[in-house]
Formats: sequence, structure tokens, C-alpha cells
Amino acid sequence: MPAAASTPRTRVRRAPKRGVYDRAQIHAILDEALVCHVGFVHEAQPYVIPTLHARVAAVVYLHGSTASRMVRTLASGAPCSLTVTLLDGIVLARSAFHHSANYRSVTILGRATVVASDDERLRALRAFTDHLVPGRWEHVRPPDRKEMKATQVLALALDEASAKIRTGPPVDDEEDMQRDVWAGEIPLALRAAQPRPDPQLSAGIAVPEHVSAWSASARDDPQRSSLAR
Ligand SMILES: Cc1cc2nc3c(=O)[nH]c(=O)nc-3n(C[C@H](O)[C@H](O)[C@H](O)COP(=O)(O)OP(=O)(O)OC[C@H]3O[C@@H](n4cnc5c(N)ncnc54)[C@H](O)[C@@H]3O)c2cc1C
Repeated sequence: MPAAASTPRTRVRRAPKRGVYDRAQIHAILDEALVCHVGFVHEAQPYVIPTLHARVAAVVYLHGSTASRMVRTLASGAPCSLTVTLLDGIVLARSAFHHSANYRSVTILGRATVVASDDERLRALRAFTDHLVPGRWEHVRPPDRKEMKATQVLALALDEASAKIRTGPPVDDEEDMQRDVWAGEIPLALRAAQPRPDPQLSAGIAVPEHVSAWSASARDDPQRSSLAR
């Protein structure tokens, strides 16, 4: 995998040692994040809108109603930014100034393009569904012609991207190190609860394996949890 997808615009300048340009790490953060935020300007007003995303190879897909302002603006070729953030911990320092957060985040700059090919649109919709819960697509009704028509799929290439990662304890000033103040980290992780069936679920349908497996791994598996980092 080529090393970097950064440009002068996406090179991390503040705390540059935390900048990461390795595609594998950028992909991993995008894949772990369940939601992204997309920034764009519409009629001179900047907006930041939360939305779902899915990555396939070096492309991040977005989707939404063809009536959505976000979708219409991006489809027009307007410049945009997309960011995801995984909050891994709160960092408590001896001084107020050095309080911080542990995180892994990615920022992408570019212009999205409308995905026209039905094959690619379907691949992207499958990726959205499987990004939420791996294997989900195989178990559900695929979109019909009307649903496909109502849904716009946009592709944002990972041509200009950077990650920024902070890990570890606080970085206090030397003269504060002997202060009688507790310092350290409160690790944070996103955890799943037990799956809750739809109240209108037909009788006799058990929680399928792909659902219980995902939710159990997000509850119990320290590999999925930033608490392990
Ligand atoms: C976790 C999550 C996942 C989502 N996934 C998708 C997705 O995959 N596809 C999709 O199309 N939409 C998704 N949405 C909804 C999305 O945030 C927008 O509401 C939607 O795309 C409509 O966009 P718009 O530009 O047409 O908004 P408009 O309805 O035109 O927005 C009008 C105004 O409403 C306010 N507004 C709009 N959205 C939000 C919001 N989410 N929260 C607070 N205020 C808001 C803003 O002030 C905005 O200027 C998701 C939202 C969340 C929180």
C-alpha cells in the first residue's frame, strides 16, 4: 500500500509528530468510525453535517436523499472536507493548560463526485450496510429500483488525507511534575449494549449471529475497545 495521501494542505502543522500519513492507518480509523462530519459551503454559509460513510479501497462513499442540501451541494462539485474522530481518552494533567484528549482522527479534503454506475452504487450501498454491521447486507432486502433512484451516492477520493493521533499520559511542564495533583488518563471506548428487538418484530426471529457477534465483540472484546490501547 503506498505510504501517504497527504499534500501541503493536509500536512499537520500543530504538534506535527502526531500527524500520520500512512494509508493503512488512515483506512483503519475511517473504518472504525461509524459516523463522519462533512463540511461544505452553501450560498456563502459554511455547514458541518453528520452523516454515515463507508470506505472501499481509497474512496470514501457518502449517500443520502437526492433532495438533501448536503448531497446536492456536494454533487455540484463544491469543495468539501470530511472528518472522523475516535475519542480514546481524557487526559488529566497537573496544570489546566496541559489537559488534553487521546484521539485518532482523519481529515480528508476534496470534491466528491456523483457515482453514476449502478454496479458501483450497489457496491457502495452494500459497503454502508456492512460498515454498520459486517455481513448485514446478505440478510436484508436489497434496495429496489425506486429506492436506488431516490438515493444519491457520492465518492470522495482519499487523495488529500491526514490522520492525527494522540496517545499516552499528560505532558506536563517539568516544574509541575512534583505537584500534589492527580494526573493520568481516563480511557474511553464506544460500547454496544444487548441488541433490542424491534417491538414489531415477527414472532420467532432470533437475534442472528452477525448481530450478536458484532454487539458481543463491541461489548467484550478488548481488541475492539480503545480501553486496551
Ligand atoms: C449519525 C448520523 C448519521 C446520518 N447519516 C446520514 C446519511 O447517511 N445520509 C444522509 O443523507 N443523512 C444522514 N444523516 C442526517 C444528516 O445529518 C442530515 O440531516 C441530512 O443529510 C439532511 O441534510 P441537508 O443538508 O439536506 O439538511 P437540511 O435539512 O437542509 O438542513 C437544514 C438545517 O437543519 C439543521 N440540521 C440538518 N441536519 C442536522 C443534524 N443532523 N443535526 C442537527 N441539525 C441539523 C442545520 O441547521 C441545517 O442547516 C445522519 C445524521 C446523523 C446524526
